[in-house]
Amino acid sequence: MTALYDEIESILLSIEKPGRYCGGEFNSINKENPFFRMALSYPDLYEIGMANHGLRILYDVSNAIEGCACERVFSVADDMRDVLVEKKIPLFTLESRTPLSECDLLGFNVSHELIYTNILQILDLGSVPLRRTERSEKDPFVCFGGDAISNPFPMSLFADLFFAGEGEDGLPELIRCMMDCKEKGLSRKETLEKLSYIDGVIISEYLDQYGKTRKVKKRSYRGHPVNPLRPIVPSMRISQDKAVVEVTRGCANLCKFCHAGYYSLPSRNFSYQDSVDAAKQIIQNTGYDDVTFLSLSIGDYREMTELLNAVLPYFNERGVSISLPSLKVDESTLPVIRTISDIRRTSITLALEAADEEMRMNINKKLTIDELERIVTALFNEHWDTVKFYFMLGLPGYKEKDEAQAILDLLTRIDCIGMKRKKINVTVSPFIPKPHTPLENADMASEEYFRDTVRRLKSSVPKRIVIKNHNIGSSLIEGLLARGDSSISAVIEDAYRKGAHLDSWDEHFRYDIWKQAIAAHAVDTAVVYSSKTADLMQWKIIDTGYGHLTDSMRSKCSDRIFNPSLSRDLDTEASAAGVAAFKIKYDCKTRARVVLTKTGAMKYISHLDYMEIVKRGFRILGIPLSYTQGFNTHERLAAGYPLPLGIESEHELFDLDLYDDLDQSLFTGRDSLAFPCGVRVLSVSEIEGRDSLMAAINALAFTVTAKDPSVLAVIRHSLENRIPLVKVSKEGVKKDVLFADAVKSYECSESAISIIVTIGTPNSLRIDQLVAQLAGAEILSAGIRLLKTASFTADGTSLRNIL
Ligand code: SF4
Repeated sequence: MTALYDEIESILLSIEKPGRYCGGEFNSINKENPFFRMALSYPDLYEIGMANHGLRILYDVSNAIEGCACERVFSVADDMRDVLVEKKIPLFTLESRTPLSECDLLGFNVSHELIYTNILQILDLGSVPLRRTERSEKDPFVCFGGDAISNPFPMSLFADLFFAGEGEDGLPELIRCMMDCKEKGLSRKETLEKLSYIDGVIISEYLDQYGKTRKVKKRSYRGHPVNPLRPIVPSMRISQDKAVVEVTRGCANLCKFCHAGYYSLPSRNFSYQDSVDAAKQIIQNTGYDDVTFLSLSIGDYREMTELLNAVLPYFNERGVSISLPSLKVDESTLPVIRTISDIRRTSITLALEAADEEMRMNINKKLTIDELERIVTALFNEHWDTVKFYFMLGLPGYKEKDEAQAILDLLTRIDCIGMKRKKINVTVSPFIPKPHTPLENADMASEEYFRDTVRRLKSSVPKRIVIKNHNIGSSLIEGLLARGDSSISAVIEDAYRKGAHLDSWDEHFRYDIWKQAIAAHAVDTAVVYSSKTADLMQWKIIDTGYGHLTDSMRSKCSDRIFNPSLSRDLDTEASAAGVAAFKIKYDCKTRARVVLTKTGAMKYISHLDYMEIVKRGFRILGIPLSYTQGFNTHERLAAGYPLPLGIESEHELFDLDLYDDLDQSLFTGRDSLAFPCGVRVLSVSEIEGRDSLMAAINALAFTVTAKDPSVLAVIRHSLENRIPLVKVSKEGVKKDVLFADAVKSYECSESAISIIVTIGTPNSLRIDQLVAQLAGAEILSAGIRLLKTASFTADGTSLRNIL
């Protein structure tokens, strides 16, 4: 262990959500002494970054290269930033806790512009100079890829190189080239020169020469889908915490405003059989019970019915649920919506974008008002209680049409269909003309227009219709960053220095800071937002391969896509048979008690997150856990007393209801296949009766150790003198507690102290609060380690011993 490792350990418990920074997750890869080390990032907080599918893919393909260790780093929250700065600890990778400045390459997957300042925070805290011109031979190379890089100019001050295209296609080539250069001892300049010959790579220093001499060809991946079959399973809850299988890439609908659709062309459909196999393996390898089939527009997946017919019986039998994000709602997708939403009919989303039919047709969104009314009527008749609508403001034609009135008229019609009894929620967002779309040359409406339209909407709708708007300031900044040129780099740097960070989070976005930075650099935003002629669209140096299509779509619309798969029948009987087969799991045939550890990095994981880790592990092991019946079915598993953060345990108790006999061999020697480091199965046994575990436990045993022997001496002295104790309630109210009411017994040895404490009584104390009082110091600063070792019933029987 390095000194840095110890320093990091010393700070993690002083911050909120240490699970963001401790690593050690199930399926994470930590290679020892690699020749080449890179840090890969989706630059947002851990819980957002870890949900990025691109990151999963790039982590997998990079770590498949021999000699290359691909590790992760994310942006940090304010509390962690303050501690890192105060203690002068450099930001580090999660796997090996290597400072970023010691990596060979820092790769950022940048999907949208509002995470640019997060990148600067990561570089800054990692002691890597923000500006590429200030980096020396010992600094890592900094590379940006992802959708936002479709216009690389605003970030050109900070990137050594960009990668245009899909990473699984080009990243391995890029890494191998860098490894080769490192082996040959080439300089930074020589390495960049070599990299410049790779298709898709843009060297920032040469950025102004592109376009004049040549274009950069964006790379598109044409092989089989790279669905990581052993993705990292986060130890703490993240956004979209589920198994993910990508079934399509690109989108053939060609909605003219859609950057994701155009920049990810060509539209590809992956084989349903590959997707089914991947989904089954990922569930087995992760223990997830929820699968997302990822697609920009899943309703257009050409093997949709085949996919659902293959997975629904299998998943229903195992209690695995399916989500189909981005499922466009039209008459062809209604049967699918009915099938997958049989149990829960809460809300459904219709992304209309424009309420005025002519504007809607002009952006190539082909839902007619008649069809919309038929769909909404069907949904309301089938007991959908809430319908959500998405609209954009400022779409082409906004100057001639009254967008607010068109939205109000449409909502009134929908409200009448729902007989003013259904819930209608509406979100409106400013339209941002993005590069490489047919509307790239359009103007972005003014701040006044957006604010005035939102105000009119909110003041005119009936109260039961809820209208929310996307932050107008952040949309304008996103537009600036998406459409700007190299001069915007200085604005980004300045905004970051002034405190801009996590700009895509409403609660963190600081429009005032951005306005100051824009003013300080005298950027004329009106020019950036105005309509563009070809020579002002500097992003055209990237050849997406579909420029001709984008240009031609400017003046026409495409035909509506017919998905033949949706006209084939869903096998509802097989799906229902799966649901029926699952019902066997409502029985309880046997009960078992399992003792698990919670040590190492697991001490930073909350009790609720630990419960999820345990459940997923049991699913991987194939433990026949019973399920509760009802609306929100879940495994019947009870845990012992929750362990406070920072305390380790060799005695975490779980009582399980099983619908089958207990088979010890399912556990024996297989725990490392199912749990992250720090969670191991110590014992398993059958139990009788249905007594509640929590009610049975009366006392807990802990072992106390400390780096400094004098700390143990103080604790021992306090115990021997039975010092008066104080209990502090959650509300901060203090009360005196008799020593004998809190401490049942203790035993001291040279190197450790064992303490048995009472629990569940008005006078019992949390072990960390008790030991802090005994030591006269904070657990963290005194270097004290607490390890739970046993639980006892009221008559003093150890629950471990009776197993
Ligand atoms: S259907 Fe969705 S993903 Fe496809 S082009 Fe239209 S908006 Fe984009």
